[in-house]
Amino acid sequence: MTNTLMIEKAKTSKIKDVDFDNLSFGSIYTDHMLVCDYKDGEWKAPKIVPYQPLTLDPSAKIFHYGQSIFEGMKAYKDDEDNVWLFRPLENFKRLNKSAKRIAIPELPEEFFMEGLTTLLQIEKDWIPKNPGSSLYIRPFILASGTGFHASPADEYKFIIACAPSGAYFSGKVKVLIEQNYSRAANGGVGYAKAGGNYAGQFYPTQLAIEKGYNQVIWTDDNEHEYIEEAGAMNIFVRINDTLITGPTSDRILDGITRKSILDIAKDEGIATEVRKISVTEVVEAAKAGTLKEMFGAGTAAVVSPIASFGYKDNDYDLPDLADSYASRLKKRITDIQYNRAEDKFGWRFKVQ
Ligand SMILES: *Cc1c(COP(=O)(O)O)cnc(C)c1O
Repeated sequence: MTNTLMIEKAKTSKIKDVDFDNLSFGSIYTDHMLVCDYKDGEWKAPKIVPYQPLTLDPSAKIFHYGQSIFEGMKAYKDDEDNVWLFRPLENFKRLNKSAKRIAIPELPEEFFMEGLTTLLQIEKDWIPKNPGSSLYIRPFILASGTGFHASPADEYKFIIACAPSGAYFSGKVKVLIEQNYSRAANGGVGYAKAGGNYAGQFYPTQLAIEKGYNQVIWTDDNEHEYIEEAGAMNIFVRINDTLITGPTSDRILDGITRKSILDIAKDEGIATEVRKISVTEVVEAAKAGTLKEMFGAGTAAVVSPIASFGYKDNDYDLPDLADSYASRLKKRITDIQYNRAEDKFGWRFKVQ
């Protein structure tokens, strides 16, 4: 692979225009990107090129049939300027799992891993060091092959773009337990990181925002009785001192933050349960005062604490705990990610 990865360096760098002390999340991009084309039945050798717009035919299938998938990951810099990834092979495996479901050809591991690490070496100076900041990495595949016929494309592009980002801070969120719309269904694509999954979430989320909430808690499509995901994050509920999250399925995405939090919680001696969580149970616990915490978990925010939830015209507040599981678990996972603590799980991956 090493001899086949072509690199075309940008003539000038945009880095001097960037205010690294005031980074938002995912809205400015580094000087280069990785591009890999699928053509004639195979993935061609990846290239690193200056970051630039794409040219696509109007009949490219991405525009009509939404054949696209993505991943979200981060690169972290420690005090000695070493660069780290967190469980990157999990992202690679999930990309291919998503690819399979959306009828996109699977990508070879070395194209992903060597492409990613080479790109990060080139963009090393773009990885911010302020607390909570990181280089957000967006690997994605889109159908560039053409034709109005509703069938999988014969050409694709795998791209990795990077955005230096500040801490993803949303504050404590107010969520609405959804009783009408669904994010995912049995036999559907909810477990894949497919672009269309997000498109379908925007409208119900807009409606929730109009009612004064920040986000939707998705429930099962059949009865709207089981809690499944928090926006685009996995969800955790703490009742008394037990931390509960739903089992992954066709409808619940297998989040890397979710499974890492479960492992860390067990290591902390926190009782954990992976099982269906009913809305009734959560409402009853809120009324009884045993509902201590709810939080979302995902790469971008890591942990996103929930302040209150709305359900059928009632709002229920969660207590503001001094030593929450959310803050404890977030600290442990980010200490591993930023190389500030021992990594007994072997999750850290050094970019070199
Ligand atoms: C990406 C994503 C998550 C979180 O996954 P991580 O691997 O933890 O970033 C959770 N739910 C949905 C629907 C997602 O798309």
